[in-house]
Amino acid sequence: MSAYQPDEFEGVPTDAAADLAGVPDAFQRLWTPHRLVYIQHGQQPDEHTCPFCRAPEMSDEQSLIVARGEHAFVLLNLYPYNSGHLLVCPYRHVATYDEATPEEIAEIGELTQIAMRVVKQVSKCDGFNIGMNQGRIAGAGIAEHLHQHIVPRWALDSNFFPIIAGTKALPRLLGEVRQEIAEAWPASA
Ligand SMILES: [Zn+2]
Repeated sequence: MSAYQPDEFEGVPTDAAADLAGVPDAFQRLWTPHRLVYIQHGQQPDEHTCPFCRAPEMSDEQSLIVARGEHAFVLLNLYPYNSGHLLVCPYRHVATYDEATPEEIAEIGELTQIAMRVVKQVSKCDGFNIGMNQGRIAGAGIAEHLHQHIVPRWALDSNFFPIIAGTKALPRLLGEVRQEIAEAWPASA
């Protein structure tokens, strides 16, 4: 799949996916997207085109950022597995965990804990998947810029959609979810 655009949006201006932060995967989504994007595969960005480097330069609303720390920041994944799927990224363009500084490691850990508390509070999820895919072979969509996934899970969130149609049903718009998480984020963090 080199590009995906529903027929009903033909002729509508779209943004390139590379302009926005997120980790693409093979799923298409059943929703009115936050922004229409072409999902482009096979391109690894450098520092100038990297969506995780560019996100902090935009407004929180544009970039889907929910919190900014000193060394790292938290944003909604543009390609979520579930509503409230967050990514924690260092500001620096480093590819793997062992390249991160002690300060970055510490703050990624702190932000991950806060993100779990906030997402639990606003979404009443039953569990989380948390982890980092290191390198393309391990499944990293944007392999060149380290990012930790925080994926909330609900007891009933698995259904047949992903299996039969390569599609996930996402009930809520990203902008709405971003605002809810950003508002619940503790001010001192
Ligand atoms: Zn980057």
